[in-house]
Amino acid sequence: MSAKIIDGSKVASELRDEVRQDVKDWVDEGHRPPFLQAILIGNNPASNTYIGAKTKACKEVGIETDTLRLPDTVSAKELKKTVRQCNQNDDVDGILVQLPLPSHLSSHDVIESIDYRKDVDGFHPMNVGRLAVGQPTFRSCTPAGIFELLKYYSIPTKSKHAVVVGASNIVGTPVSIMLSREHSEGKATTTICHKYTKDLTQHTIAADIIIVAAGQPNLIKGEMVKEGVVVIDVGISRVADETREKGYKLVGDCHFESVREKASWITPVPGGVGPMTVAMLMKNTLLAAKKSIYPG
Ligand code: NAD
Repeated sequence: MSAKIIDGSKVASELRDEVRQDVKDWVDEGHRPPFLQAILIGNNPASNTYIGAKTKACKEVGIETDTLRLPDTVSAKELKKTVRQCNQNDDVDGILVQLPLPSHLSSHDVIESIDYRKDVDGFHPMNVGRLAVGQPTFRSCTPAGIFELLKYYSIPTKSKHAVVVGASNIVGTPVSIMLSREHSEGKATTTICHKYTKDLTQHTIAADIIIVAAGQPNLIKGEMVKEGVVVIDVGISRVADETREKGYKLVGDCHFESVREKASWITPVPGGVGPMTVAMLMKNTLLAAKKSIYPG
């Protein structure tokens, strides 16, 4: 078997078209365009790339945006003051603090300082908590994008055995909540693996669906999966490649060729989950502007 490709670029482009139309309708009704405030600390090249992609997507769909750039020496107090000003500004609908932060700053503290009603990344404990109890919420963008992909390709999760590799707060944990809830979309029996998992293959070989977000190139190999598995590769790592102009290429967490031989569906890297994350951020920003999640 050679897996069919889940084309995240195509699905994200269709999703952005939908958001663009919804933004246009919203503005035609007499509202100002949605506004996303990004905050970028320091000069991490990957973060610069992500902010660039998000800014471009905003322009494409008619969402206004601005990036506040702070030095990597910024204090926690100064950063929180900036976030507070954005919280209080009625012209700001969504706030995004680009992660990772310099090591002297606590991402927990910074995320908690964001008004949860403007937390379009869906990282605030209020939004994660609501996800866990099945309440309307800003679903974090990568997990939400993964579910959009599964829905688009009519790949069911109900009653399947899903194995999530990676348990971060931004991908692994929220996607495992979404997969495992019996009264929400997932309805899957869900196993969560992380760096303390003793025998990863024991779990991945039994999976109907594998979602891998570990940041470890080639972690999942063909011999670790069963025939017909659905593989969603969230990982994005830069590996040196002198044949490329940039000197590196982007790879996921799967050994693509060997896993593809056995899988029924697989996401490529790049062009899989990445574009969906950005598209879902656009969707969340529009929801924030419309006060769809928190009407009060
Ligand atoms: P992280 O780096 O914060 O944590 C990694 C997780 O993987 C941890 O839970 C760790 O225990 C687990 N892990 C590490 N090595 C492992 C191993 N050998 N076996 C099992 N588990 C292992 O995670 P993150 O921030 O979710 O990022 C993970 C990857 O996903 C990175 O490559 C990141 O760039 C990428 N990412 C992509 C998108 C996207 O839009 N496609 C979004 C977010 C993150």
